[in-house]
Amino acid sequence: MTQLVWFRNDLRTGDNPALTAACKENQPVRACFVVTPGQWQIHDWSPARIRFVIDHANALAKLLARLGIPLDFLEAGDFRETNRILADYCRDHQVQAVHINEEYAVNERRRDKEMAARLTQNGIVLHSYRDQCIAPVGSVLTQQNEPYSVFTPFSRRWHSWVAETGPSPWPAPAPVAAPVRANRYDKPLPGLEQAPPALVDTGEAAAHHRLAAFVDEQAGNYKDQRDLPGQPGTSLLSPYLANGVLSGTQCLVAAQQAQGAASNQQGLSTWVNELAWRDFYIHILYHYPRVSMHRAFKPETEHLVWNAPGDVFDAWRAGQTGIPLVDAGMRQLNATGWMHNRVRMVTAMFLTKNLFIDWRLGEQYFMSRLVDGFLASNNGGWQWSASTGTDAAPYFRVFNPVTQSERFDPQGDYIRQWVPELAGLDNKRIHDPGRGGTLPKGYPRAIVDLKESRKEAIARFQGLKDRG
Ligand SMILES: Cc1cc2nc3c(=O)[nH]c(=O)nc-3n(C[C@H](O)[C@H](O)[C@H](O)COP(=O)(O)OP(=O)(O)OC[C@H]3O[C@@H](n4cnc5c(N)ncnc54)[C@H](O)[C@@H]3O)c2cc1C
Repeated sequence: MTQLVWFRNDLRTGDNPALTAACKENQPVRACFVVTPGQWQIHDWSPARIRFVIDHANALAKLLARLGIPLDFLEAGDFRETNRILADYCRDHQVQAVHINEEYAVNERRRDKEMAARLTQNGIVLHSYRDQCIAPVGSVLTQQNEPYSVFTPFSRRWHSWVAETGPSPWPAPAPVAAPVRANRYDKPLPGLEQAPPALVDTGEAAAHHRLAAFVDEQAGNYKDQRDLPGQPGTSLLSPYLANGVLSGTQCLVAAQQAQGAASNQQGLSTWVNELAWRDFYIHILYHYPRVSMHRAFKPETEHLVWNAPGDVFDAWRAGQTGIPLVDAGMRQLNATGWMHNRVRMVTAMFLTKNLFIDWRLGEQYFMSRLVDGFLASNNGGWQWSASTGTDAAPYFRVFNPVTQSERFDPQGDYIRQWVPELAGLDNKRIHDPGRGGTLPKGYPRAIVDLKESRKEAIARFQGLKDRG
């Protein structure tokens, strides 16, 4: 009889409760990963993310092979087919139990429920574990046992939970058998040729290397530099976290271990708080499934009448809005599959407030480009920016992208990198090239009046309140 680990959003050997549990059974262990291009398309996965996931599944197969665990690549069109194929696989390999780490979006939950029923029918047990958050879903609740819908009280409770529980990662398991030959998935998948060059190095060791370098050398400056898109001030660990090559707990513990030198305390605490944001949005996805069904967290905002996307949406996607910081961000996203957090907020607010285009279109576009596309955080970030979500930015607080640019990219380094047409402008004009003088050749005039569109957005939100 065999134990099977079904890898999904947990492409790692360390801190992997499903893998650890399967290895404890004193039976042969197999692993599988199901390549599901049709489902990935339905979920708007970007070529960058697909490339990242396939590369990391291949790297995982090598690590597991050394532990005596063969990882098989199966192929299915979508989740329904996945379950059928996996059930056949279990029968063919005399699988006694399947081990999985939970996923929380609605389609994934449906898939797993259906799979559990199918396996039970065949006399196979499905064991599931919680690995995705530092504080597992359901563990951070109000005194009334309700989920939190605002970050600050959530994070207070989250920090106490961390202090009381002292989470620690599971080590990678010891070999269960002699090494085996590693399988590899090499088939060309449609669209993959459009993937940008890899943003970060491949593999679990590379992820840990980046984590260690960040907490030991860079995190001291995190508090001061994290908002400056022109500086390498953030960890760039999001592709690993979003695809489960690293766990939140591994990051937390690395930060706790590095904390000590007076110079890094604040930076590391601020960084750990970002890990709490990640947990918060996963908890929201778990407790409020509507957010993974294209619905607003705040139901009353469903009555907003958004503008038709049209040409201005195309200009936003292409980084041709005539607003330099917005254009720099969109071009960074298109070229690399990643965008700095501050600029994600600016570009998202510009789309939803100044252009008054439905946040769902922006959310989908980001997902179709990001290497770190992660439903919980992407949806959370978009709904925050659009003032439709939990803890949303109040609708009357609309970022002015020119002011944001002057404040967070004062020397224009970031704009110069991504919008070379503007590179010759001085540090003042680069933020708002339309203000006096002729526009540099090839750079468009602003597609919207920032002041007027801000007023109009506020009026539309105000209209919702008046509606009662
Ligand atoms: C509109 C919008 C869309 C976003 N879409 C995604 C997405 O699809 N995937 C994603 O991982 N993050 C998303 N974020 C959050 C954030 O922008 C990225 O996590 C961050 O930029 C990743 O860079 P980093 O790893 O260098 O972050 P660091 O600043 O080093 O932070 C460390 C880790 O904390 C987590 N984190 C940081 N900020 C946030 C946040 N605001 N919300 C949730 N988790 C956070 C990430 O896992 C990140 O890797 C989005 C934010 C906005 C405003």
